Amino acid sequence: MTTTNFTPWIEWLDAQYDEMLAKTIELAEINSGTLNADGVNKVRELLTEYCQVLDGEVEVVPVAPYEHLGSNGEIETFPLGDALRIRKRPEAPLQIFFCGHMDTVFAIDHPFQQVKWLDDETLNGPGVADLKGGILVMIKALQALERSPYAEQIGWEILFNPDEEIGSPGSAPLIEDAAKRVHLGMIYEPSFPDGNLAGERKGSGNFSVKVTGKAAHAGREHHLGRNAVRAMCDFVAALDDLNGQRDGVTINPGFIEGGGAVNIVPDLCISRFNIRLERPEDEQWCLDRLNELVAMINDRDGISIELLGGFGRKPKVLSGANKKLFELARECGHTLGMELQWLPTGGCCDGNNLAAAGIPNIDTLGVQGGKIHSSDEYLKVKSLTERAKLSALMLMKLAASDDLSWLEENQCC
Ligand SMILES: [Zn+2]
Repeated sequence: MTTTNFTPWIEWLDAQYDEMLAKTIELAEINSGTLNADGVNKVRELLTEYCQVLDGEVEVVPVAPYEHLGSNGEIETFPLGDALRIRKRPEAPLQIFFCGHMDTVFAIDHPFQQVKWLDDETLNGPGVADLKGGILVMIKALQALERSPYAEQIGWEILFNPDEEIGSPGSAPLIEDAAKRVHLGMIYEPSFPDGNLAGERKGSGNFSVKVTGKAAHAGREHHLGRNAVRAMCDFVAALDDLNGQRDGVTINPGFIEGGGAVNIVPDLCISRFNIRLERPEDEQWCLDRLNELVAMINDRDGISIELLGGFGRKPKVLSGANKKLFELARECGHTLGMELQWLPTGGCCDGNNLAAAGIPNIDTLGVQGGKIHSSDEYLKVKSLTERAKLSALMLMKLAASDDLSWLEENQCC
């Protein structure tokens, strides 16, 4: 089948630009920092409206609250916004999972809340690239599919999740659950600033550590105190020394807080760190080392240490099916005048989780933009249409293909 068959449905997207842009701005100007559950829910309500045209079955799915070790050593609990799931044609031969997060890294009290034009082609705003623009790319690509005769071949399931920016602790089970029903995934994180796609991704773990010692007066009873700050410093130093001991594994102690008045031996110290790794088997190596360090500190008189957290994102390693999916994206990009490559990255996203569940996916099908997670975040506005065309063409080609057996190629190569 040649591309010309798809042309009318692809060209329809040109006329959708104004609406995509207006809705991206509308979404970006609603604060949806992950912990602003009300804001995330506002975005969800708007997305329910935007998606009405797709005529799928809509479900609001609450997710577990986020738990975090506070600086007082107690677990703090934060409610999250609800996820939104929309499904259509669960009986169709090819089932595709679509995912985009509603949250951003910009908290409700962050100064960056409005969009602004940097030049005719570049829009600056919170979440315009990561990934509110991508949400419009997804919706419009699906709308193009639904208008075409190819729609009958494809059943789909959209998940708009509320917590990707903190590692999807609440929505990970929903992604895992969707993985049981689908053949492939399309996720709408922004592409790299040069337009290329993310291929392999590192895995990531976030951990918190709590060291408890014993308080005592620094002058009169120093010998009775057990210094939690000192024990934590030893732990963090030993932790950082693990860097360089295993290829592909990096550890970043990123936060430490403890003690108070300097005339008191401190009895509490908190720290947090992140680990990135390249191969699934690196996880066990890291856990073994962490257990050794914890045992070393716990052996000390009057000191106890508690380690919380874990590896929320497995490394994304490309299976044969995943490589073929990238080739499809490259071929469709080429047809549309974009030369796309896929490159490894240390960053992670929901594509990691989906790949870990055995589902081939491309996770940077959203807009072209950059400087994400900063007040300089920008969106190249013409990519709204370009990338919607890319996804729409991929979908129609998948629907029109008479051989999708490659989707079963689960081995990594
Ligand atoms: Zn994102």
